[in-house]
Amino acid sequence: MASARKVIVIGGGIGGLAAALALLKRGIDVELYEQTNQLKEVGAGIQISANGTRVLYALGLEEGLERVQVKPMRRILRHWQSGETWNWFELGDVSAERYGTPHLMFHRGDLHDALSDAVRRLKPSAISLGKRCVAVEQTQAQAVIRFEDGTSAAAPYVIGADGIHSSVRKILFGLGKPVFTGCVAWRGLIPLERLPEHLRRLVGTNWLGPHGFVLHYPIRRGELMNFISVVERDDWQVESWVITGTTRELANDFNGWHADVQTLIEAIPVPYKWALMVRPPMEQWSRGRVTLLGDACHPTLPFLGQGAVMAIEDGYIIAACLDKYFDGPERALSRYEDLRRERTAAVVRKAHENRTMAFEPRLAAQNENAVAEAIARDWQQERVKERLDWLYTYDATAIAI
Ligand SMILES: Cc1cc2nc3c(=O)[nH]c(=O)nc-3n(C[C@H](O)[C@H](O)[C@H](O)COP(=O)(O)OP(=O)(O)OC[C@H]3O[C@@H](n4cnc5c(N)ncnc54)[C@H](O)[C@@H]3O)c2cc1C
Repeated sequence: MASARKVIVIGGGIGGLAAALALLKRGIDVELYEQTNQLKEVGAGIQISANGTRVLYALGLEEGLERVQVKPMRRILRHWQSGETWNWFELGDVSAERYGTPHLMFHRGDLHDALSDAVRRLKPSAISLGKRCVAVEQTQAQAVIRFEDGTSAAAPYVIGADGIHSSVRKILFGLGKPVFTGCVAWRGLIPLERLPEHLRRLVGTNWLGPHGFVLHYPIRRGELMNFISVVERDDWQVESWVITGTTRELANDFNGWHADVQTLIEAIPVPYKWALMVRPPMEQWSRGRVTLLGDACHPTLPFLGQGAVMAIEDGYIIAACLDKYFDGPERALSRYEDLRRERTAAVVRKAHENRTMAFEPRLAAQNENAVAEAIARDWQQERVKERLDWLYTYDATAIAI
């Protein structure tokens, strides 16, 4: 591999690994630096919609993912209090036929392993651990990264894929100010054998409530159930994925909800909580030979399930842009931004709008049946398709660079 065509990636999350894989597949050398000493993901689930699996398959991961994925049959809706159930929209083969590739559900660690294994197969030494980026400098010909341990690395390009609290973004553009949404999210992983039979189905379940929602779906071949919930609450404003809460506090947030929700909450071994924050879309992601991808430049609320999908799409497209315009940094990075900035800003905006749609204040009403019927109408499959088609039909692998 010609060392002149080399890119440094900062951050070994899903976005950084997808970019590294896409670059290596195009014959561009990669050095990926990750701050942690062990390459691993947090214990949580992740859904990858058809626009994301399209890219993962193009990167050659279909077979590896089959060993760990769940291809759910459908998403169902349930009423927060009565537990009434409606079929919401079909997934499984119906979705795969409609969009060309399936909607899949994973343990984040399994998806992460599939990506890092594929990177290492192409270049065993590509990933360096325990390397925290603390400075970025640029000359005419290259960008230089300095690490906390005193070492440095240089390449013609640097991609900051270092997540929501990105150091590279801070160095290039300063500190953005996140705004609290008034919502707190909870997550947890439940071994399936801890749940009663009727809660073990291979479907995604959305519990709709007036001031919160609960979502749970199976992952890792159906061995685990991923639990996520969001509730309107303003007494907790810490944006971290590693802070634990208590079962009692989580149960208190969903007091009065159906017995199945209580069963799920009681079965979570360790519940984690974090505050949902928003940041306005950035007008620019690149300076000179350094650019950003994924949560580093367009962090989003989890209401459309597109954060990691966008990071994967970014990785594919930045690789294509660098492949085509490697000798012209301005052209390469401006083309990348032109192709991605508006779309990702639209996703971030829509996910924010969905924050209110994810709750159903009408469900607080007393005349439950009438309200529930209206909800079933408003959340029909056709309405959902209108909301999601523009996301799922997007094909990052077919875009003219
Ligand atoms: C509750 C919840 C549910 C979600 N569900 C979904 C979903 O279903 N589908 C979906 O598509 N998205 C989902 N997302 C969003 C998704 O998790 C993120 O958008 C995605 O993980 C972003 O990937 P990334 O690679 O950009 O950043 P990250 O995954 O944050 O990776 C950044 C990496 O950079 C490293 N790093 C940080 N700073 C430095 C440094 N200075 N030097 C070196 N390394 C550094 C970090 O250690 C980390 O490994 C969800 C998010 C939440 C909060």
